[in-house]
Amino acid sequence: MITPNMHYADLKDSYLFYRISQKVKAYSEAHPDKHMYRMGIGDVSLPLCDAVIKSLHEAVDDQANKERFHGYMPECGDTTLRETIAKYYGSHGVSLSSEEVFVSSGASDELGDILDLFDRSSSALVIEPAYPAYVDANIMAGRKIVHLASGQENGFLPKPCEEIKADILYICSPNNPTGAVFNRTQLQEWVDFANNNGSVILFDAAYEAFIEDETLPHSIFELPGAKTCAIEICSLSKTAGFTGTRLGYTVIPKDLVRNGMCLNDMWVRNRTTKTNGVSYVIQKGGAAIFTPEGQKQVKENIQYYKENARILMQALDALGVWYCGGKNAPYIWLKCIDGMGSWEFFDYLLENIQVIGTPGEGFGACGEGYFRFSTFGSREDTIEAARRIVTLFRK
Ligand code: PLP
Repeated sequence: MITPNMHYADLKDSYLFYRISQKVKAYSEAHPDKHMYRMGIGDVSLPLCDAVIKSLHEAVDDQANKERFHGYMPECGDTTLRETIAKYYGSHGVSLSSEEVFVSSGASDELGDILDLFDRSSSALVIEPAYPAYVDANIMAGRKIVHLASGQENGFLPKPCEEIKADILYICSPNNPTGAVFNRTQLQEWVDFANNNGSVILFDAAYEAFIEDETLPHSIFELPGAKTCAIEICSLSKTAGFTGTRLGYTVIPKDLVRNGMCLNDMWVRNRTTKTNGVSYVIQKGGAAIFTPEGQKQVKENIQYYKENARILMQALDALGVWYCGGKNAPYIWLKCIDGMGSWEFFDYLLENIQVIGTPGEGFGACGEGYFRFSTFGSREDTIEAARRIVTLFRK
């Protein structure tokens, strides 16, 4: 009999979002007249911008035209789109060749697939609280996971230290769930650590477009030495509302070499074997994001979410609650009010004011006692949720 990948048996049940939905469902059924204020969602609420929609329509029409029709696309991405993304990096002072940019179907796909580049005996460091996929993708491959807890004392931005022994280092900045962002000095320490130890950083930049403090790095490649130790995984999901349309990109510098193997060459080989690329229609739609009109429109949408963040932060400030994130990220990570535990706080908000967030404990044990608000909801709900929070906790 065939033996399946038994590492799947090591996966813990993903209770977090299931448990939230069960609790919300039970409450809604018991109180059908109550409106729910969903501040927990990690999905966007605004539609794709006009420039993207126009480009998608044109691409669909191309596919109906004998001269303009596209069949298979290059596995690593449309050449022009790769060039366009490389130029976008140029706007942050990062010089890349288009061959260092790979067009993808989104960050989730890449975060899992990229692990093909590493031996299964390699270990992975996960800074917690963390986006749950990092842990699970490595458990599936049977890798050892090294957990590094972060906390309020270091602003949820821990430093590397000699005791850490890991080959793959996950860094997510701006972070989900904490919204914390590594500054240049802090990120440089991780780059130096990776170069000194021969490890590789998987830098998750899914939220780079939310950075407004221009002293903070959008890309790890803004730092000296990063091209010899990092892979950057980026997504257009939150930048441009592509959660359901699916598009992202991954940067693997040609200088990233381990044991004489060039990881860029390996990834070309991987992609040309395991995928036939992203669809023409989606790549053409995505290319519109990088036009001046597209940039203006996606930035307007990001500003909408940023205004939601401002409204929620104002409420927390009024109550004197500790939080991080919100300014350069679409998530606000707060200390549960009145010393409550994460799930206790969840239940308290649901039952008293019908505001739904995400319990921090779901992102790792050190998230206990903290709570995540997302700013991707509607303006009306955000205003009312903020008002309800202040009214409930004002002493
Ligand atoms: N990385 C982080 C930190 C995320 O929060 C998410 C989605 O919420 C992803 C990656 C996945 O992004 P995508 O929609 O591109 O798969």
